[in-house]
Amino acid sequence: MNTDPRLRPEASIVMALAAPVANARLERSTVLRRALGPRDVRIDIVYTGICHSDVHQVADGWGDVWGRSSFPLVPGHEIAGVVGAVGAEVSRFAVGDRVGVGCIVASCLQCENCLADQEQYCLRGMVWTYNDVDYDGAPTHGGYSTMIVVDEHYVLRIPDAIPLDVAAPLLCAGITVYSPLKHWKVGPGKRVAVVGLGGLGHMAVKIAHALEAHVTVLSRSENKREDSARLGADSFYSTSDPVTFAELANSFDFILNTVAANLDFDAYLSLLRLDGAMVNVGLPEEPVGFSMFSLVGGRKGGRRSLAGSNIGGIRETQELLDFCGRNGLGADIELVGVDEVNNAYERMLRSDVQYRFVIDIATFRASA
Ligand code: NAP
Ligand code: ZN
Repeated sequence: MNTDPRLRPEASIVMALAAPVANARLERSTVLRRALGPRDVRIDIVYTGICHSDVHQVADGWGDVWGRSSFPLVPGHEIAGVVGAVGAEVSRFAVGDRVGVGCIVASCLQCENCLADQEQYCLRGMVWTYNDVDYDGAPTHGGYSTMIVVDEHYVLRIPDAIPLDVAAPLLCAGITVYSPLKHWKVGPGKRVAVVGLGGLGHMAVKIAHALEAHVTVLSRSENKREDSARLGADSFYSTSDPVTFAELANSFDFILNTVAANLDFDAYLSLLRLDGAMVNVGLPEEPVGFSMFSLVGGRKGGRRSLAGSNIGGIRETQELLDFCGRNGLGADIELVGVDEVNNAYERMLRSDVQYRFVIDIATFRASA
């Protein structure tokens, strides 16, 4: 029997911020965390990023295209914190380690995709950090909360060089853009466009710049021109300027679309060079459409690809964190308290955030 109180295996009730029903405002609540199993790590959460996916799911906006959200819903899959306890068989982490958890908390680890370190495409179906049901039947609840218990396979090590607050958004926004940039071999000499300068987009600019690509930001207005240069972009175009699409026709090897809404896909595809790819990570709530001629070509340019990409595997997420540690990269954040999260959602819907909201979890302990 272990007498260290941090290693006691009881389940715990912890503070959380929950949406009681679809589209409701988030409110202070509690959530049950499972007893520490032998392979589990207990993480005392310090910061949690706010992803646009949280906003979609609280609104149940993906219900028609992906499946309905379950309520009460505790969002949060950009989790940074400190190890508070470890199970008896945990070998890679110790109390006090700086760690993170992203979007995945379980996967089968046996299918061909898991064996290829692509747990995010698990053929049994990965378990999402929140708004999902774990393999044991328990609902999952995310990082808008003071503590979480996670199998050590899904726990990431945060390098000492990255402060925890700016590291949190790397666990979703960072890996979601890093994975396709690496898969499509973005590097020196490649011309890359990032569509939408939000949470994902600003990380894409920083990472593509660090990978030595030539980076262009495509944003809806002139407002983010200066920020874009500061983040590392080589050029900037407003997509509401009528000459932009004519000027940039057939000019990119790779377009990363981070926009959470429908776009004129034919217009964006026309910007790809021969064999270029437009990869979508943004997840609009409605199905989208495009003309097959935009891929096939035949008048000006062609042989283009349109693809999608889902977060990244655990090994690749650790690779990203280490890459960010070596290159001095973190997110540009606005720190908010737990009682400011509803306001942050409203601002995110207006694209009014520079460039990721992060919740200071210590504010749970302040009075409401
Ligand atoms: P965000 O911070 O709100 O950024 C989205 C950006 O898209 C905005 O800053 C804005 O940039 C642009 N935008 C917004 N509405 C637009 C519209 N109607 N038309 C054109 N552009 C618009 O959101 P995020 O957290 O980066 O997430 C973006 C999307 O990625 C969401 O749908 C989210 O669910 C999804 N996501 C996917 C994955 C994945 O694994 N595939 C992972 C995480 C998130 P400008 O002001 O520069 O135009
Ligand atoms: Zn996310």
